[in-house]
Amino acid sequence: MKQINQINQKFDAIVVGAGPAGTTAALHIAKGGAKVLLIERGKFVGAKNSFGGTLEYSPLLQQLIPDFWNTIPWERFINKRIFSTLHSDSHFSVSYDSSHFRSPPYPGCTLYRSVFDSWYANKALKAGVTLLTETTVTQITDNGVILNSKQEVFANMIVAADGVLSKLSQSIGLRPEPQVEECSLGLKLFYQLDEDIINERFNLQNREGVCQFFLGNSADILGGGFLYTQLQGLSVGIVHSLSSLNKNYKRVNIHQLLEEFVSQSPLKWGLKHAKLMEYSAHIIPKISSWKKYPIHHNRFLVVGDAAGFCYNTGLHIEGMNLAIESGYLAAQTVLYAHKKGDFSKKTLNDYVERIKESSIGSNFRTNERLGNFINDDIVIKSYPRLIDEMVNRLLFKKNLYQKKESIFFVFLDSIRKYLGIGKFFREIIRIIKSII
Ligand SMILES: Cc1cc2nc3c(=O)[nH]c(=O)nc-3n(C[C@H](O)[C@H](O)[C@H](O)COP(=O)(O)OP(=O)(O)OC[C@H]3O[C@@H](n4cnc5c(N)ncnc54)[C@H](O)[C@@H]3O)c2cc1C
Repeated sequence: MKQINQINQKFDAIVVGAGPAGTTAALHIAKGGAKVLLIERGKFVGAKNSFGGTLEYSPLLQQLIPDFWNTIPWERFINKRIFSTLHSDSHFSVSYDSSHFRSPPYPGCTLYRSVFDSWYANKALKAGVTLLTETTVTQITDNGVILNSKQEVFANMIVAADGVLSKLSQSIGLRPEPQVEECSLGLKLFYQLDEDIINERFNLQNREGVCQFFLGNSADILGGGFLYTQLQGLSVGIVHSLSSLNKNYKRVNIHQLLEEFVSQSPLKWGLKHAKLMEYSAHIIPKISSWKKYPIHHNRFLVVGDAAGFCYNTGLHIEGMNLAIESGYLAAQTVLYAHKKGDFSKKTLNDYVERIKESSIGSNFRTNERLGNFINDDIVIKSYPRLIDEMVNRLLFKKNLYQKKESIFFVFLDSIRKYLGIGKFFREIIRIIKSII
C-alpha cells in the first residue's frame, strides 16, 4: 500500500471508494493493462462499510471471480429463505428450502464486509492497482482529483464509487443531494452466537444458512426487517423509508422500531444469550432512484450505490452484486475509452448501453414493480393484520360450542374488516401488475 506523498505520477484512471463497486472497477482496469489508483477514505478497506450480510450469486460473479465458492471468504451458503409477517407478537411465515441449494453454485451466501472488502482489495493490489487508504477525494479538477484538500493527482478518467450520497457526482452537477423520498435508513446489529446453537435453533447443518425477511410494525412505517445467519453470529436489522419515518416522527423514531423488532418472539428466541457486538446505521438508495440521474459525463462514470444500483424493495436488499457488476462494466468502458484515446461523454455512453443490456437493467424493471407494490401504506398496514386475523380464527376455537367457520367466510370477513371489498379488488390488480 502506498503513502499519499509517494503518489506523484499520472494515472489512466482514478477510482474513488473501495467498496465492492470501486474495487471491482479498479481490479478490472488494472487487469486490462491500464494504470489505476484506488482511493479509500477509511482507515483500512472495509472500515466504513455497513451491510446486512448476504451476497446474492449470479453467473457474472463466477466469471469475475473464478472458482468463486472456493475463493471468496463466505460464512454460510443460503439454502433457506423465510418470509414472515409480524403483528402484535404473532408471526406467520412462508419458508422455502431446497436440496438443490445445498451444493455449489449456491444461490447466495452470508459474509462480513470488513473481511470480504479487504480480501477483495488484496486481489486488486496483486493485479497492479495502487491503493491509498485514509485518503479522501475532496474535489474533482480538470485534470484529476484533489486528495485531502491538498494534493492534486492526475488521470484521464474518474470512476465515482463513493456510495449512496456520492458527493463527487453532486460536485460536478450530475445530481442534487439525495432527497428523503429517494432513500431508506438501515440499522444493523451483529450478535455473536455459538455455531452449534445457531445450527440447532435454525435447524441447520454445517454451513447451511437462513435469510429471514419480516414485514409489519406497530407504527406502520414503510419498510421491513431481516435476520441472516453467519457462521458464528446473527446479523439483524431494519430498513425503513426515510419519508415514512419523517412523516411519522412525532409518533415513533427508528430506534424504537429497532427495539420493537428485536423484542418480537422469532427474534427474541433466535437471539437468546447472543452477545451484541456491533451497531451500524447507513442510508440506502430506494429502488426508484436509479433512473433519475445521469451516470456518465466527460471523463466521469458512476457505479454501485452512487449510481442508485440497489434493489431495495424494503423487504429485501440486494446491492453488493450490483455494485460488483456495475464496477466491472465501468472498467470495460474505461478500457475502451483508453484504447480509443477519447474520454468524452459520447464515448462513455458505452457504459450506459452496457448497463441497459446487463442483468442490472432488466432485473431493475421487475424489482421496481415489486418494490412499488410493497412500499405502499396498505401493504404494511393491512396485510400483517389480515393474515394474523385469518390464521388466528381458523386455528383457534374460543369455546367448546363455537361452530367451525368456513375458510371462505373467514377470508371474506377478514378482507372486509382490514381492507374493504373495493380495496381488495384494487390490490388484486396491483399484485398482477407487480408480477407481470
Ligand atoms: C443496513 C444495510 C443492509 C444491507 N444489506 C445488504 C445485503 O444483505 N445484501 C446486499 O447485497 N446489499 C445490502 N446492502 C446494500 C449494500 O451494502 C450496498 O449496495 C453496497 O455496499 C454498495 O457498494 P458500493 O461499492 O457502491 O458502495 P459502498 O459499499 O458504500 O462503498 C463506498 C466506499 O467509498 C468510500 N468513499 C466515499 N466517499 C469517498 C471519498 N470522497 N474519498 C474516498 N473514499 C470515499 C467509503 O468509505 C466506502 O468505502 C445493505 C445496506 C445497508 C445499509
